[in-house]
Amino acid sequence: MKEQLSYIVFTDFDGTVTRTDIGDAMFTMFGNRKKCAEAFHDSLKGRIPAQESWRRSCETVESLSRSAFASFVAPQNIDPGFHGFAEYCAARSIPINILSDGFDVYIDQILRREELNYLHFYSNQLVFEPDGKISPRFPYTDAECIECANCKRNHLLTKSGDDQVIVYIGNGHSDQCPVRYADIVFAKAALLSHCERENITYHRFETFHDVLAKFRAIVEGERPRKRRTAELARKEIFMQG
Ligand SMILES: [Mg+2]
Repeated sequence: MKEQLSYIVFTDFDGTVTRTDIGDAMFTMFGNRKKCAEAFHDSLKGRIPAQESWRRSCETVESLSRSAFASFVAPQNIDPGFHGFAEYCAARSIPINILSDGFDVYIDQILRREELNYLHFYSNQLVFEPDGKISPRFPYTDAECIECANCKRNHLLTKSGDDQVIVYIGNGHSDQCPVRYADIVFAKAALLSHCERENITYHRFETFHDVLAKFRAIVEGERPRKRRTAELARKEIFMQG
């Protein structure tokens, strides 16, 4: 019997759910922008693991309190179409998982403010130390890959089932790996050029209004289908064990 397929959504947070990249903005605001850029560049080049890049960035922050950080996060806006998209998915029991290579503290604050804290999110963690310093924690690293601190690919593979069509929405560097394993990709900014280069079929979006319009058309108009190359890429990972 042919399996009944349903959808599962994974979305990036910074610059995708939110309008700006809050992870970047926080180090521009409270740390040393130049040193953080150097650390990120070294990580992009594969010279240091992504975790090390975050550690170095955190070290540039002399002192930061939980409350000063909360005041910085408070005015950060989310995409104007995200509520509508989340409601559409909730009404159809389509799960949304937020995957972020940023930090739990601001994601949690924003989701609570927006009353979206029923959504699951998986990210790195930020600890405010008693001496005013901040330090990162990485609960979701991959044992072999150093490119991202939070391995989005592993979340994609372990949280989805064979009977689910994987939808991925993103904009940046840490989204480049997971889109390879997703059946339906929504891309903007740098991720869009990556999909072009790598020949990954994608839907262009600017806001979640665009994502919802297209996703609704797919859900209501077509039979759910998996992307053959993504399916093969997923099988390859499982074979490696
Ligand atoms: Mg992003």
